[in-house]
Amino acid sequence: MKKIKVNLDKKVSSSYEICIGYDIVDRIGLIIAKNLPARHYLIITDSNVSALYGEAFLNRLRGMGISVDMIDFPAGEDSKNITAALAIVERMIELGADRSSALLALGGGVVGDMTGFIASTFMRSVPYINVPTTLMAQVDSSIGGKTAIDLPEGKNLLGTFYQPKGVVIDVKFLDTLPEVEFHNGLAEVIKYGIIEDIELFRFLEEHVRAIKERDCEILVKIIENSCRIKKGIVEIDEKDKGLRRILNFGHTIGHAIEAESHYTVAHGVAISLGMVAAVRISEKLYDLPGEERNRIENLMKTVGLPCRIPHTVTNNGILSRLKMDKKKEGSVIHFVLLKKMGMPFINGGVPESVLGETLEGMRK
Ligand code: ADP
Ligand code: ZN
Repeated sequence: MKKIKVNLDKKVSSSYEICIGYDIVDRIGLIIAKNLPARHYLIITDSNVSALYGEAFLNRLRGMGISVDMIDFPAGEDSKNITAALAIVERMIELGADRSSALLALGGGVVGDMTGFIASTFMRSVPYINVPTTLMAQVDSSIGGKTAIDLPEGKNLLGTFYQPKGVVIDVKFLDTLPEVEFHNGLAEVIKYGIIEDIELFRFLEEHVRAIKERDCEILVKIIENSCRIKKGIVEIDEKDKGLRRILNFGHTIGHAIEAESHYTVAHGVAISLGMVAAVRISEKLYDLPGEERNRIENLMKTVGLPCRIPHTVTNNGILSRLKMDKKKEGSVIHFVLLKKMGMPFINGGVPESVLGETLEGMRK
C-alpha cells in the first residue's frame, strides 16, 4: 500500500494521508482508528455503489467492532441538491448522529461532494474520510477539499473548502466501473501528464493496453502519480487562488461543450475535446511543437477519447457559452495553454477568430 501525505497550510490539524492500493478496504478499520476516532460512523453512498459494495463494506466495518450505519441516495448528479442533502441529514439525525459522529463517503464525485458538504456544515462540521470508487474521484475530486451541491442556477454554487481526515483509494472498486466513467477519469490522468509530468505521459503511452484492461498494478501507479500531482498543486494553492488554475487545462472549452450538450457529453469526453482545442491553440499562438500536439492527440485516440466535436454541439453555441464566462470573469477568458508539454501558463485571451478556426478544425 502506498501512502502520500498532504500538508496544508503547515497546520498539522488539516493535513491528511491518501492510501492507495489494491484490495485495501480492510485497512480502513486501522486508518479510521488512527486518523478519525469517533463514537459513531455513517457511510454515505449512492444507490449504485450501495447495491455493489454497501452491504459488504458495512459488514466489514461492523466486523471490526466499529459502530456504523449506512445511508444511500439515488445515484446521479441530479441528486446533488439541497433537497437530497436535507433528506440525508434528517436520516443522520434519526440514526443518532451528533458532533461525535464521523462520515465516510463511499462513491464517486457526487457522493464525495455531497458528503463533504454535509460534513462541513452538520453541527458546524464533523470529520469525514473519502473512499472514492470512480477513477475520476480517485485521481481528482477526492483530493483538494472542494465540496459543493448544485443549485437550479448552476453547478457547485453552494459549497465549502473542507479537507477530509484521510482518503482511501482501493483500485479494486474500478473492476465494476462502467467504461464511460473509466474514460472520464483517464482524461484527467492524461491532463496531469500534459501539464505537469512528462514521465507520466510517457508511461501512459507505453501502457495503453494494460490500462484498457485495467491492470491493477498499472492503475495503482498512474493513480499514485496523479494524486501526487494534484496534492502538490493543492498544497501550494489550497483555496484555488492561483496555481490551482492550471488544473483547468482543457476545462474552459470543455465546460462550454458539456453545458452546450446539456450534459449529454460526459465530462471526460468534453475536457478531452477542450484539451485538444487548447493544444491546437497553443500550437497556433505559442509555437507548441507540432510533434507534441500529435503525441497528445494520438494518446487520446488510442485510449478511446475523442478528438472530434459531436454534431449536436455547434461552434456558435460553444462560443456564446465562452462569452457568458467572459462576462462573469471580467474582460477576458483565461485559457490554460502550453508553451510545451509540462509548461502550462494562464493566457489572458484568445482572439475569437482563432477559437472559431480551432473548433472548425475539430470537426474534420
Ligand atoms: P464522478 O465520480 O465521475 O464525478 P459519479 O459520482 O456520478 O461521478 O459516479 C458516476 C457513476 O458511477 C454513478 O452512477 C455511480 O453510481 C457509479 N459508480 C461509482 N463507483 C462505481 C463503481 N466502483 N462501480 C460501478 N459504478 C460505480
Ligand atoms: Zn475535470
